[in-house]
Amino acid sequence: MATKSTKTADKANSNDAPRDYEFQAEVSKLLRLMVQSVYSETEVFLRELISNAADACDKLRYAAITNPEYLGDDADLKIAVTLDADAKTITVSDNGIGMSHDELVENLGTIARSGTEAFMQQLEDKNSDVQQIGQFGVGFYSAFMVSDSVEVASRRAGEADGWKWSSDGGGSFTVEPDADAPARGTTITLHIGENSEEFLAAQRLQSIVRTYSDHISFPIEMAGAPAAGGDEEDGDEDGPQVINTANALWTRSRSDIDEAQYKEFYSHVGGLFDDPAITLHYRAEGRHEYTVLVFVPSQRPFDLFDPDRKGRLKLYVKRVFITDDADILPGYLRFVRGVIDSEDMPLNISREMLQNNPIVAAIKKAVTNRILSELETASKKDAEGFAKIWDAFGGVIKEGLYEDFERRDQLLALARFKTTASGDDLRSLADYVADMKESQTAIFYVTGETRAKAVASPQLEGFRAKGVEVLMLTDPVDNFWITNVLGFDGKPFKSVTQGAAELETIAGSDDGETEEAADAGEFGALLAVVKQALGDAVSDVRKSDRLTDSAVCIVAESGGLDRNLEKLLAAHKPDAVERQAPVLELNPRHATIKALARSAKSSGTSPELEDAAHLLLDQAYVLEGEAVRDPAAFAGRLSRFVAQGFAAGDE
Ligand code: ADP
Ligand code: MG
Repeated sequence: MATKSTKTADKANSNDAPRDYEFQAEVSKLLRLMVQSVYSETEVFLRELISNAADACDKLRYAAITNPEYLGDDADLKIAVTLDADAKTITVSDNGIGMSHDELVENLGTIARSGTEAFMQQLEDKNSDVQQIGQFGVGFYSAFMVSDSVEVASRRAGEADGWKWSSDGGGSFTVEPDADAPARGTTITLHIGENSEEFLAAQRLQSIVRTYSDHISFPIEMAGAPAAGGDEEDGDEDGPQVINTANALWTRSRSDIDEAQYKEFYSHVGGLFDDPAITLHYRAEGRHEYTVLVFVPSQRPFDLFDPDRKGRLKLYVKRVFITDDADILPGYLRFVRGVIDSEDMPLNISREMLQNNPIVAAIKKAVTNRILSELETASKKDAEGFAKIWDAFGGVIKEGLYEDFERRDQLLALARFKTTASGDDLRSLADYVADMKESQTAIFYVTGETRAKAVASPQLEGFRAKGVEVLMLTDPVDNFWITNVLGFDGKPFKSVTQGAAELETIAGSDDGETEEAADAGEFGALLAVVKQALGDAVSDVRKSDRLTDSAVCIVAESGGLDRNLEKLLAAHKPDAVERQAPVLELNPRHATIKALARSAKSSGTSPELEDAAHLLLDQAYVLEGEAVRDPAAFAGRLSRFVAQGFAAGDE
């Protein structure tokens, strides 16, 4: 919040005198960075101001649907860039929605969106990439890269009073009444600083507008400038000339738009500055008519998982901007940016009405299908390119596996995984199934917070030894869909930490080479002893197929939750989850187990074997990255064991 720093003795008409406000601390910090401006791309200030002016015109047009008087006799919305080389000023003005006193204070004194801190860090560290500024909801402040001071005169549509905001980019700004503010809208005057005088040239400004802002759908006028496409010489013409194409880019035909224009539009509408991985532009005709121009970014935006993030798919009705937070696409496609422009929705549709609107529902369905089929095409045509998309957005797309039952098969076909066999490459489920071992019936997976943790799971040993591929599920979302989705291509998903591993029945590369197992009788005796010693601490004790190197591991019962999922749920809602006693598996080929089995067979249960049983279980917990159950008891048993070991050596 901006804080009022002046004394307020004159409360009654406190808005009549100039008042000083302090910038929110974050803004001050950002401004210090802007003022230092060692950036090479300072020209983006103009793009940001024009982008705001266009947004303001969009907002006015929407507001005027219900308040036509807002338009008055000034219905042609436009933006003007004016240069005064003598006064060393550049002004950017619009007759859009304008700002009230409080909006000036709020919008130009604070930062609304999260993520700015990270952006500033980036600027401090690298002193570059100020290009990205628009993504963080702080584009306005870029004006201070080129200005010694900035004035914003504004009058909000439908309000009588005009206001002037001004600041030199220090710690504060001033707001005062301004009778000379435009009748409606905003005029921003930049007092260009010494180091930025290169911008005090009409040609330069025009070329910046053409580069960054040609796609803006409102006319951008420049006084004394040659007309768009006109000959450059008639500098003596003083009337304002429109210097952009000034129609909505998506209404043009694809053949008239080049890649650079698509990209600029993408930056404007999506607030992103990478190269879009997929550009999808088409017009739907038939029952509903609408135009779609959407992009799949190539990089993950910083706020992909931020629940408060601003929507970035803009809905227009007949070129009138309606909203950017209607849920036009399902949540799992929230990384898609762009515009949908409907021809047959009523213009006066309120944002609330959109939720149950049948046309919105029809568009949502059709566009979602189209985007998925586009992704599928990309996955087939360009595996490498698709792998990048998947790396960036797979974690989000997978939400669809439990949210969108109808498209589950389609989404499963898109899904890519790192597996124990894939190295750094990604595999599809179809790839996995094609390479399944003979007599393997399930698709095995292991979950873990990180790849390293997943790979370290002792339960994987037997799979590795037999050359059975295992999917590595390391996205948080994996824990949710994997329990919901029954299988792929008729093969069930099965956790390596759950139920019996059935590895014995799968023919694999290690057959015949393994260490000899404990004698069946001895092993049976050990199972009985351990079961009795551990009691309720385990739900079962059994022989393991899945271990080769480790002596023991714990797994969940076949019907139970995957142990990692159980852990995750317990961390979120400790009361809701009753943690199940695990199954302890013993590796009959391990030297320790064989020795214990011999002892169990020859002398039955003993205090030493009981201690050993508990130590084995605790060891299995430790291997899972969990704590021993009772540290004091564990320490006691361990030291007894060590003492016995040395005592035996003394004899
Ligand atoms: P963003 O455009 O991403 O919200 P900016 O820093 O560019 O962030 O602008 C901050 C806010 O200031 C805008 O959201 C808008 O509310 C207000 N604003 C800026 N310029 C104008 C303008 N020309 N007309 C009306 N409001 C404006
Ligand atoms: Mg902006």
